[in-house]
Order: sequence, then C-alpha cells, then structure tokens
Amino acid sequence: MIGELTAAMAALKATNEVIRGVLAADKALSEADLKFRLADAAATLLDARAAVMDAQTAIDARDVEIARLNEALANRAKVVRRANGYYEVDSDGKAVGEAYCQRCYEKDHALYHIAYAGNTIDAKCTCPVCKSTYERRFVRMNPDAGVA
Ligand SMILES: [Zn+2]
Repeated sequence: MIGELTAAMAALKATNEVIRGVLAADKALSEADLKFRLADAAATLLDARAAVMDAQTAIDARDVEIARLNEALANRAKVVRRANGYYEVDSDGKAVGEAYCQRCYEKDHALYHIAYAGNTIDAKCTCPVCKSTYERRFVRMNPDAGVA
C-alpha cells in the first residue's frame, strides 16, 4: 500500500509542476503548447487516481483481514476444547452446548457447529463447512455434564 500512495504522491507532484509551469509561462505559451501541457497534467492526474484506487483496494483488503482477526480473538475468548470439539463456556467455566469443529477453529479460528448424526457413540458427525468427520463420543454435547 505504501507503494501505491508513493505513486499517487509522485503523480500529484508531477501534475502540480506542470500546472505551475503553465502559470509561470503565462502568455509566453502558444495555444498548442498550453493544450499539450494541460493534457500532460490530465494524464498525470489519471495516474494519481489509479494509484489512489490501488491504495483503496489494499486498505479494503486490510480491513477485511483486521475484521477476521478481531473475530478470531473474540472466538478464542469464548470457547474451550474438550476431546475433539470446542465448546462455549458457561458462567461456571463448564463446556456447554454443541461442539464446534476442531479443524475449522484451529485452522481458521472460525466457529461452525458440527452436524450431529445418530445417537450412538460411534455415529459420524460432520462439519458442514470443511466436511471433517468426528465420532460422536469425541464431540458429544455438554461434555462437562458427563452425559452423552
Ligand atoms: Zn470444519
């Protein structure tokens, strides 16, 4: 992004120099020369505009990444791991509710509930996002309650 801003500043400086040259020349310039210099100024302004747009794209990408990191930090503060799942924590510090996908959390810091299938302890449960599968016994609901 610094490169884009440096390019924009250079283009604006070049435009300013062309316009100052035109102003300093006053009536010494022919009409054709005046048009040529103004066209040059317009071209450098377009370069500056393109560089600013590139910088805006870079800023937008950073904003998206910052939002993702903020969400990851918020997620980290509210979950705890039990066996193969991550769970929300109640006021007593116990893991409660349905499991979040271990892979999605550990790789992307994203919280997606696992889709439970069947009630047997070896039933396969699947993450709807990354398709990781878990045996139900390792991602049971309310793991700190001691009930599957
Ligand atoms: Zn997943």
